[in-house]
Amino acid sequence: GQARLNLERAPSEVKELAQTFNMLLSRLSQAWEREREFVSNVSHELRTPLTIVHGYLQSVLRRQHNLTETQQEALETAASEAERTIHLLQDLLDLARADSGYLQFRLDSFVLNDLVAEVVGMARQYSDRAIAIETETHPIVVKADYDRLKQVLLNLIDNAIKYSESDTSIQVKLDGNPTAATIQICDRGYGIPLQHQSRIFERFYRVDEARTRGTGGSGLGLSIVKTLVEGMGGSVTLRSKLGEGSVFTISLPV
Ligand code: ADP
Repeated sequence: GQARLNLERAPSEVKELAQTFNMLLSRLSQAWEREREFVSNVSHELRTPLTIVHGYLQSVLRRQHNLTETQQEALETAASEAERTIHLLQDLLDLARADSGYLQFRLDSFVLNDLVAEVVGMARQYSDRAIAIETETHPIVVKADYDRLKQVLLNLIDNAIKYSESDTSIQVKLDGNPTAATIQICDRGYGIPLQHQSRIFERFYRVDEARTRGTGGSGLGLSIVKTLVEGMGGSVTLRSKLGEGSVFTISLPV
């Protein structure tokens, strides 16, 4: 809308040009809207049957105790791939919703320290990595969407684990002042080369396909992180050095 050219007093050729431009613009935005709808519908339609497939696989794995090792492995792989795809579809759905302004946030006031403790506890359950929490003693209250923020932190911790050697530790630092709260996720991993740092939050962007292929990601994680954090009125920044590690900092209004 805002980009439309308005040239009421211009000569007629320019007016025609402006009309053509405006028509192109509205066709383009219709096309974008159709694309968003398409992505959103496809994600939604695929998610339901996949969730059912995943459920059946889980129930077979739980109930069949006479599976051979090969069968067990095959079913486990199928279940974990189904789960990964369900997450991918959920991410696509969230991004499509964010694009069209339909991503909903439930803003509540809560103690950030509790959320960080919960998330780190969850991460410790699925990884045996050393994850330390560093925080001031006083509780920091923020106004944000608890579940979405949980999703953000899990994503960043997950990355910190994926892109570092297993004998290195991860730190989650919490800090608060009267205007903002910050959460930092620090790793001593591979780091991100400077020339990639500005693009790392783009959709499907991955630094090094050869190195990241084995990690089973999609390149959507950080774009989701950015969308969610900004949707809650916060920001996310990155400081990283190749071979030394990365620090992702989230700032939230208090
Ligand atoms: P994914 O992890 O699925 O590839 P992300 O959007 O989460 O997607 O991350 C994009 C890319 O950024 C990753 O492929 C990886 O190359 C790089 N990256 C993200 N987090 C880190 C990190 N903590 N250390 C080093 N590289 C990272």
